[in-house]
This record gives sequence, structure tokens and C-alpha cells, in this order.
Amino acid sequence: MNYKIAVIKGDGIGSEIVSQAMKVLDKIADKYHHEFTYQQLLMGGCSIDAYGVPLTDETIQACKESDAVLMGSIGGNTTTSPWYQLPANLRPEAGLLKLRKSLGLFANLRPCVLYPQLRNACTLREDISIKGFDMLIMRELTGGLYFGERKTESVDGVMTAIDTLSYNENEIRRIAVKAFEVAMKRRKKVTSVDKANVLDSSRLWRKIVIEVAQDYPEVTLEHALVDSTAMQIVKDPAQFDVMVTENMFGDILSDEAAMVTGSLGMLPSASLNETKFGLYEPSGGSAPDIAGKDIANPIAAILSGAMLLRYSLDLQEEADAVEKAVQKVLEEGFRTGDIMSDGCKQVKCSEMGDLIAERV
Ligand code: NAD
Repeated sequence: MNYKIAVIKGDGIGSEIVSQAMKVLDKIADKYHHEFTYQQLLMGGCSIDAYGVPLTDETIQACKESDAVLMGSIGGNTTTSPWYQLPANLRPEAGLLKLRKSLGLFANLRPCVLYPQLRNACTLREDISIKGFDMLIMRELTGGLYFGERKTESVDGVMTAIDTLSYNENEIRRIAVKAFEVAMKRRKKVTSVDKANVLDSSRLWRKIVIEVAQDYPEVTLEHALVDSTAMQIVKDPAQFDVMVTENMFGDILSDEAAMVTGSLGMLPSASLNETKFGLYEPSGGSAPDIAGKDIANPIAAILSGAMLLRYSLDLQEEADAVEKAVQKVLEEGFRTGDIMSDGCKQVKCSEMGDLIAERV
């Protein structure tokens, strides 16, 4: 089949790591008789340099006309790059926020996997890391505290700041449906995280999640409070499969979960809308400190490509093949500098791409 993929390599290491992801996707196309047509687009600093804005309407339109978007990362050194002398709405990151909004991407998926081969990078105690873990945090991305009404004003002479946390049932239902759908493709367990002992928004969240669960009898649902979940992630991460939560809780928990894996260059992410369409990108940034040296770890970008296959193109077998190829290369002891350890063989970014593509 023919699929149209918009490619935004972006800035810094973006171009190096996305090229490796495309190399692996090309191998998949070859092996499984698909055709991927790429349309390369600019966003972030490179778009500012070319067009004076971090994201053009033409780029948004081209993304909308594709089956999925594969992205690297955007932005530069925030202290030295001239991009950060511009007003906030013209800086590289403004492009990404606008793109997410324009594409209606409300569900952010971050798998946090501890590969047995990288266990020594894990920041947890050995008796915990030995069990490994493979959780996926699904964060609501367009509602809640970050998008509610806010103001700072003087109340009876005292400066007072107010942020509003609001969710309606439709916003909760659509992310809950996504969580159960994704759980059906995994180990069929959903942990819904809230603060229902205190917040009205959480009590509605819990009620709607329970309603949605009725349509997925095969999936086990459990509820957990956000504070205890923060502890459980470091105490027993192996218990989690899909975790679904609102915007701010997800922001914090997904960084905590990413940290315990110990390797930023390994973590892919996806942001989905109500259809199968999604934007796929590594969790890390543009790493200007190592850009242009062919030493970045491309695995997060390659695994983002696997998520694209799984969630936007519904190509499960092909996605599995990419993930297995990554594991095989790790088993054989190949490492980029960021995950290097004794007894392993250090390779460059492009070599890592070749090795993974060869094993697909
Ligand atoms: P960063 O994630 O780019 O880098 C943090 C550290 O991790 C650096 O030492 C970097 O070398 C290392 N690192 C990151 N990815 C790596 C990889 N694939 N392989 C090996 N090492 C890797 O974060 P930062 O330095 O705070 O931000 C740099 C720029 O990236 C900023 O402009 C920031 O705004 C931007 N950023 C963009 C995104 C995005 O595009 N979604 C996300 C986060 C940060």
C-alpha cells in the first residue's frame, strides 16, 4: 500500500536521527511491499531562517494531507541562538505548539521501556530494575490547568493568582477511548490516574473512564491517585501497562517515568487526534551540544517510526519488526555514546541506523 508521510526533520540533531528512522522505514517498505512517499517540510529554527516564521500555513496543510507526521526536534541553544531574541510567538517552539493545535492532537503517548540490555542505565535499585518495565503514559494534551482561564490580580490589597482546571465529559471520553484502544494492542490493563479524593474535575474524570470501560470488557481498569502513582513509578514500575491521566499530572509523571529508564535517546512519543492521524517524535530535544557530529542516538526516532506504523498505519507486524530489530542490535552490544557501557561497541548515529535497518 502507498502511505504519505510528512517529515519534519527540524533543527539540531533532528536531521541526523530522522534520516535513520527513514532508512528503517524504507527497509520495512521493501520487505513488506509498501510504498512510503515522504514530503519534507520545515518547522522551527530552520523555518524561521527560510520564511521568517517557525511554521507556515503551507506546512500545516501539507501535514493535514498526509497519513502521519514524522518529526525530529526543533529549537537551538536557548542562550546563544538568535532565534531566542525573537518575540515568544516567533520562536521555534511556537511552531510546534501551533502545529499540535492545528492538527487537534489531544492524546500524547509516551512509552517508557526498560530494555534488559540497558538495565545498568536505570536509576532505580537493582531489585526493582531486574523486573524490567514497559509502560505507556497517555497524557491529555489540550485541556486542564494549562489551557484554563488564568489571572493575577490584587484581592483586598493582596496579589492573588488563579489558574482554572476544567474538563468536560467529551474531552475525558475521547482520551479514555484512546487509552482503552491502545491497551487492547498491549497487555490490556489501564490505570487511570486522578486526584478524585480532592478535585471535582478528577471525580468527573473517574466517572467517565468507568463508563468508557464498559465497552472494553477485556481490559482491566484500575484507578490510582496521582501522589501515590508518583511513588509507585519508582517503587514498582512493572505493575503499569497503559496509564491515562489529565494534562498536568501527565506532564509530571511522564518525565518521572522517562527519567527512571535513564536514557533520553531511547524514548519515542506520539501525539494523536481523534482519527488515526498522529505526529511522532523522540521525547528529547534538538541537542545542539552534539548536533552535526553523527553521534546522537537515533533509536528514539526509529521507535517513533515504529509507533507511526502501529498507530497511524495499523501495521502491527511491521512495527513489531522495527522494535525487535532495535532489541537485537542492543543484544549484540552496539551502543551510541549516550548509552555506552563496558564491553559494548560504540557506533555512530548513521551506523546505528544501518545496523537496525539490516536487522529488520
Ligand atoms: P535536549 O533533550 O535537546 O538535550 C538534553 C541532553 O540530552 C543533552 O546533553 C543532549 O546532548 C542529550 N540528548 C538528547 N537527545 C539525545 C539523543 N538522541 N542522543 C544522545 N543524546 C541526546 O534538551 P535541551 O538541551 O534542554 O534543549 C535543546 C533544545 O531542544 C532547546 O531549544 C529546546 O527548546 C528544544 N526542545 C525541543 C523539543 C521538541 O522538539 N519536541 C523537546 C525538548 C526540547
